[in-house]
Amino acid sequence: MSRPRLRRALRRALAALVPLAFVSALPAPAHAAPTAAAAWPEPVPVVNHVQTTDPVVFVTIDDGWYHDPAAAKLLLDRRVPASLFLLPGAYAYDSGYFHTLLDQGPSRVENHTVDHPDLTTLDAAGQRAQVCGAREAQLAEFGDGARLLRPPYGTYDATTLTTARACGAKAVVTWTYDMTTWGQWTPPTPALKAGDIVLLHFNETVEQDLRRALAAADAAGLRPAPLRDYVPES
Ligand SMILES: [Zn+2]
Repeated sequence: MSRPRLRRALRRALAALVPLAFVSALPAPAHAAPTAAAAWPEPVPVVNHVQTTDPVVFVTIDDGWYHDPAAAKLLLDRRVPASLFLLPGAYAYDSGYFHTLLDQGPSRVENHTVDHPDLTTLDAAGQRAQVCGAREAQLAEFGDGARLLRPPYGTYDATTLTTARACGAKAVVTWTYDMTTWGQWTPPTPALKAGDIVLLHFNETVEQDLRRALAAADAAGLRPAPLRDYVPES
């Protein structure tokens, strides 16, 4: 679909949400209606853990700067359906690394903005440029539009939640545990529970961090599952 047609389709989809917003506002007092109308498009939910009884955990890997072949091999060998929250700059110079992960395994690319700003420092237009810009770059490179937005640093405000909707996301996703080794510091391995979201980064220790996360999942009797499929359409 061309971009103008995509935009028109998106606008139609967003317009369809407006009656829903009013329907959901019906049981509320009449004076609540303007508030519902002001929050347009409807904000997406924030997810740091998925409510599920399935024995699953979610592996998410951010940024994408360090293209470790051993980590890619581990993801493919174990068939890990990882959510890759990539920055366009981190695949622009070597998109083949991620094409291999997407083409040969069950991982998906999700939205982490264009330039990794703290979105709460930007106005609505600035946030939209960061989030919709990343989605368009991913569509152009991978032919797959992100459905999840992870705001850099996990910081977001009310504008982020409506911007995410306008840019095709169904949720803002943070995390339950950050298992990234930062410098010399490796965080303690948590006792994972069903529905937990693990955060890793494509850095120099990504393979070891991924092994620790998969071992923690194994120890808890949990299997990695595709986060996009477990976040309900909202
Ligand atoms: Zn990041």
